[in-house]
Amino acid sequence: MEVTNPLEKRIAEEIDLVRERIKELESEEVLKGTIRYKYIKCGRKACHCHMEGFLHGPYPHLQWLENGKLKTKYINRKEIEKYSELDKKKRELMDKRKRLKILKGELKEVIKASENRK
Ligand SMILES: [Zn+2]
Repeated sequence: MEVTNPLEKRIAEEIDLVRERIKELESEEVLKGTIRYKYIKCGRKACHCHMEGFLHGPYPHLQWLENGKLKTKYINRKEIEKYSELDKKKRELMDKRKRLKILKGELKEVIKASENRK
């Protein structure tokens, strides 16, 4: 079917692009979980962090749900770049999925409007 409505065409084209990017992102490794910056107490009993208000940090941690339980893992300096990259991809994937939903709704509206005009 030939699409003649320019708005409909534009939206359909963007849907194709967004779908392609989602497929791409889904095929790559994305972050399972969330990066959180937390203040922590260390293991040294004499350290100032054991007094109120003198915690260390904030340090990056990865948090994720496993069998309904919240797990936390400290992210060390070498890992933070990799995890940040994965986090960026996860955010982009979520954004693109949201965008796809909006575009599909817009396309439906445009088609409906043009059909009403017939
Ligand atoms: Zn300490």
